[in-house]
Amino acid sequence: MDADARLQRRLSQISHILLVLSGKGGVGKSSISVQLALSLLSANPTARIGLLDVDLTGPSLPRMLGLEGRDVHQSDDGWVPVYLDARGKEGKGGVLKCMSIGFLLANSRESVVWRGPKKNAMIRQFLGEVRWGELDYLIIDTPPGTSDEHISLLETLRPLLIPRGPSIKLPTLSSLLVSTPQALALLDVSKELTFVRRTQLPLLGLIENMSGYVCPHCSDIVGIFGQGGGEDFCRREEERKDSKVEGEGGGCRFLGRVPIDRELVALLDDVADVKVVSPEEAARLEVAQNQLRE
Ligand code: ADP
Repeated sequence: MDADARLQRRLSQISHILLVLSGKGGVGKSSISVQLALSLLSANPTARIGLLDVDLTGPSLPRMLGLEGRDVHQSDDGWVPVYLDARGKEGKGGVLKCMSIGFLLANSRESVVWRGPKKNAMIRQFLGEVRWGELDYLIIDTPPGTSDEHISLLETLRPLLIPRGPSIKLPTLSSLLVSTPQALALLDVSKELTFVRRTQLPLLGLIENMSGYVCPHCSDIVGIFGQGGGEDFCRREEERKDSKVEGEGGGCRFLGRVPIDRELVALLDDVADVKVVSPEEAARLEVAQNQLRE
């Protein structure tokens, strides 16, 4: 079996691939990726979610999930990702499988300084040589802006999402934009949107993060970075939805806002509600899940 066929076999076990994008760094893209994965798990008790961090120069998932210093090991069938059970209920819970270059670095303060081809090879390995198994969703946390990693992802995924045989079922591919409400951040979102359109990447819409601050005393929402900038941006894009001008058209749905929340930062730091399970335990969970499904 050639490398592409092997990669396609891996992908055929995944139902949906979602790329989480942002124009700028620090707007909460990784936090939203983590929250999305955990929300999908808590909404569906048998969900199987993969979370892949392809930010090769600034991986943050290991820190956010409290997994710094953990190793991934190699098996005959590829790298075994780190498994989490979001609710700690053994035997019935879904599984979150995480992979990041952070797990491969000896020291969390190290960073990789690679040229495009090396990044490209790493991303192909993350998709094709990680033992993802069956997944309902693979959420991919990308670096900010449009970098080598984005190009590699699309160049790797696109040709593989065309079935090589009549019986192969392949995942859907879509994207999600994260921004803060400030004008500067939204300017960068415009550029990201142009990338999405030029590459014909299906877009679910935009989440406005850090949209106001929940006052711990009165629970009122205070607009620190402003509020509603993302919604206005989406309204304007939706008005030009049918435009045929290059780089315009297609719209951008507003999906909702997440306020600045001190508790969220504390949870991301402490990850109190997440439990690490061993691959063996996770394999037993998967068998139990499949039995529940049947
Ligand atoms: P990015 O992935 O876009 O670089 P991160 O997800 O790493 O951004 O978030 C940057 C920082 O902001 C992190 O310390 C994170 O905990 C914090 N953060 C993100 N979203 C929120 C929020 N809604 N409320 C409070 N802090 C947040």
